[in-house]
Amino acid sequence: MKHAACPTCRGKDLEDFFTIHNAPTQSLVTIKEREKALAIPRQDIVLTFCNSCGFIFNSAFDTTIDYYTQGYEDQQGFSPTFVKFITGVTERFIDKYGIRGKRVVEIGCGKGDFIRLISRLGGNRGVGIDPAWVPGRGEDVPDVEFIKEFYSARHGDIHADCITCRHTLEHIHDTGGFLRTIRASIREGEAPVLFFEVPSIVRILDIQAFWDIFYEHCTYLGPGSMARLFRLAGFEVLDMYLEYGDQYLFIEARPCDVPSTRTHPLEESIGELKAKTTFFVEQINRQLAQWRERLEGYKAAGRKVVVWGGGSKSVGFLTQFADLGAIAHVCDINPHMQGNYIPGIGMQYVGPAFLEEFKPDVVIVMNSVYMEEIRKDLAGRGLHPEMLGL
Ligand SMILES: [Zn+2]
Repeated sequence: MKHAACPTCRGKDLEDFFTIHNAPTQSLVTIKEREKALAIPRQDIVLTFCNSCGFIFNSAFDTTIDYYTQGYEDQQGFSPTFVKFITGVTERFIDKYGIRGKRVVEIGCGKGDFIRLISRLGGNRGVGIDPAWVPGRGEDVPDVEFIKEFYSARHGDIHADCITCRHTLEHIHDTGGFLRTIRASIREGEAPVLFFEVPSIVRILDIQAFWDIFYEHCTYLGPGSMARLFRLAGFEVLDMYLEYGDQYLFIEARPCDVPSTRTHPLEESIGELKAKTTFFVEQINRQLAQWRERLEGYKAAGRKVVVWGGGSKSVGFLTQFADLGAIAHVCDINPHMQGNYIPGIGMQYVGPAFLEEFKPDVVIVMNSVYMEEIRKDLAGRGLHPEMLGL
């Protein structure tokens, strides 16, 4: 099954540029048994470029799989580095648009960390919508309610002064349909601010961050393709910026009748993004070969190698190298992941306390942003391994 039209602009002038074979179709679901983890189906990821709007997507994405209702684990709030980052970004956003005493709706709220945060910081009333929301996880904040459902047109009845959607759009195949559904739900005379965040494809292409390409992400946006998507659906782009070591792309927008032709300085053109896909393809095999050689070297030398950081990045990384048998464990600080098995890979997540006994020689950090936080944690346990960061 291959999608023949661009989900953003419906264009048919598409080009496949990179394939990852046999990627586990799920990476964040929690699984208690090794056999069940290994039974997760594997499918190819085919990255495809739309020559009409610059949109990049997995054109082989299977939209029939239930990704989010079976123990989906995506909380990042266990890291102080992350909490500091997201608090800063949210405070700036609140100040910029005066989001105080307002109604905020979050589409894809996960366990509800962000809707609680923006409600608390701005004295707002919040509504979080997500099929993967779990009652009882996280503090109770007055004026925040949750709807455990997939977002759809009927949620348009909820009045919103601000609509947020963080790390959700990259999981949505029908990007154009999704944005149009939101646009159609906004009543005449209302102009909520939209606040969306996705991983940036520009960084993935520039540094060949293959670990950030995994099956659950079917949609890959850069500033230019994101702005074009919003304009096509009837939104004016107010601002865009990159955060977290250029990994995360933020967009702020408002509904409008006719979007302007003005572009944001951050926007790449269709041609520029296409040139980046060509560069990515030229470099990626060399990058994969270097990692393979390095891991084989560790194995031959009998060095104990651990990956720090579970979830999708580790699945993206291990999809390439699990066959080597060079990586002994994957460690994660999220207590809800520890003890579970990694989908498609079959290794069991361990917590940091386990490493005190295991004493790894090498720790590969799945997100360099956490390097110092992890180095400190390990040092506090009397561990000083060689550390590599992605
Ligand atoms: Zn397109």
